This record gives sequence, structure tokens and C-alpha cells, in this order.
Amino acid sequence: MAKILQIKTYPAKILRKIAQPIAEVAQEEKELFEDMVATMHNGEGVGLAAPQVGLSKRMIVADIGDGPVMLANPEVIEVKGRDRMEEGCLSLPGALVKVVRPNEATIKGLDENGETVEIKAKGLLARVLLHEIDHLNGKLILERMSLWQKIRFKLKQ
Ligand code: ZN
Repeated sequence: MAKILQIKTYPAKILRKIAQPIAEVAQEEKELFEDMVATMHNGEGVGLAAPQVGLSKRMIVADIGDGPVMLANPEVIEVKGRDRMEEGCLSLPGALVKVVRPNEATIKGLDENGETVEIKAKGLLARVLLHEIDHLNGKLILERMSLWQKIRFKLKQ
């Protein structure tokens, strides 16, 4: 049975750390993927990265409504286009930030079975995967807020 994990929210230090690559997708990682998917669904999010549940591992999950995508050690191979859309984040409750990102991304990584996969994502899925990969590099959408948005967000904390 998948567990619901506790989500770390800003300003938890783990959110600023560069996450470590994983050596392989073993039983422990498979269970973590399942727990992350359950935690993402429970929080009504469309994506989640391992640092958000306090683990310095390069593992992300996403689900934009077509079923979960799970990737370990994701690498962005190619991006195309650009688009501006509002994003939220389970680690920044209540924040909505307009973020400019590519609207297509080719991402390589290991799936939940440890197989190497290449995902050609478009639109929302590309956006979510790129947002989650930012988490692995210690980046939050907070940096993309205007000064005024930051002040408003910090006042609510
Ligand atoms: Zn996030």
C-alpha cells in the first residue's frame, strides 16, 4: 500500500539542495515512486519531486490526468517553443506564479521499472516535468515571482 508522505514547504532547506542521482530503480525506489504518486494525488497536485518529501534523490512524478509518469535521473535533451502559464507548487501553498517555459521538452530518464525512456512532452506535461526538474536543482517558482508577488506571498506565511 502506498503511503502519503509529508510535503516539505518553503523555507525547508531540502528545497534548495541539488538532489543526488540514484544508482538504480530498486525496490526502495519503486515504493518511493508509488508513495510520491499517492502523495501528489492526495495533495491534488500534478507533479512532485523527491526533495519535496524530504529526500535528496533525482526522482520526479507527474500526472496531468492521463495516468502517472515516473522518472528517475531525468535529463532534458531538447526544448522547443515558449509559453507563459500560471503555476502552483505543493511546497508553496497558495502561490500562483506566471512562468515562461518551453512548450515542448524531450526528457530522458529511468522509468519505474528502471528502463531508459525518452519522453516527448508537450504543453502542460512538458511544463510540469520541467517544474519538477527545477526542484531537483534546488529551484522554486518563488524566484520567478515579481517583487510585489514575493512580498504578498511572504506576508501570508
Ligand atoms: Zn513545485
